[in-house]
Amino acid sequence: MATPVPLPLRPRDAARRARQRVEVARPELFAALPAAPAERGRRRAAAVATQRSSLTSLTSLTSPKVLQRTGIGLAAASLALAVLIPSAGASIAPASSTTPMAQSGSGPVSADPGVELSFSRPNSTSSMDPDGKLHQALSVSAAKVAPAAAKGSLSAPLTKLVPSSPFGYRVNPLTGAMGELHTGQDFAIACGTDVYAAAGGTVTFAGWHSGGGGNRVVVDHGNGLSTSYNHNSSLLVKVGQKVERGDKVALSGTTGASTGCHLHFEVMINDKTVDPMGWL
Ligand SMILES: [Zn+2]
Repeated sequence: MATPVPLPLRPRDAARRARQRVEVARPELFAALPAAPAERGRRRAAAVATQRSSLTSLTSLTSPKVLQRTGIGLAAASLALAVLIPSAGASIAPASSTTPMAQSGSGPVSADPGVELSFSRPNSTSSMDPDGKLHQALSVSAAKVAPAAAKGSLSAPLTKLVPSSPFGYRVNPLTGAMGELHTGQDFAIACGTDVYAAAGGTVTFAGWHSGGGGNRVVVDHGNGLSTSYNHNSSLLVKVGQKVERGDKVALSGTTGASTGCHLHFEVMINDKTVDPMGWL
């Protein structure tokens, strides 16, 4: 991954370079990540469940099978653990790092910090159902949603997530320009693959994006949160259309400033992009 390079760009220069950015999928740099949109059926969830051993953060928050299994097994302990949920959530948030439980020391956690407490609450819908979690998270402005509340509240926009270029500052893969912000998370995917809404909402843009996104869809989820899906080969929704989480919104492609088939997925808070991985 590109080392962030601090350059004293004026905002206008940065914006111009961002518009000129070129997307490149680099799947070889990253291991495959599983994706588990809860609403996409038993078959997918089962397939994901078999892949979840190495990376739990994406799947365990969204896979109904995993949640059910864990919920049943730990139901007896759930009453005592229910009061510990906030700190449990905080310990789960950094699970994508190499030290997933390193920050679990704060709060009145009396159980083994390695136990995924938030998955063991049969009485809570918020942690078992991403829609409920998102609804709860957006009870405040999206800009104020805590990382633990954001994590897992959006579903994977593809059946299988293979992250390539991450969100953040990087060297432009084509021009070599340094210090530009890559405004989304790229996922390597063949052209023509279904792209799904990461949550329910209203389509606010569906068309050609002059800023390099090619055929782009934007979905507004309310309270300042929106997502965008870029470089598509075709669009399956129209502006003003209501979509549910998991609805097909486009077919992936390589339109716009892109050199290969991939999905450039963005999460925006009040129209400012943030790292999508914090919400998946
Ligand atoms: Zn991108």
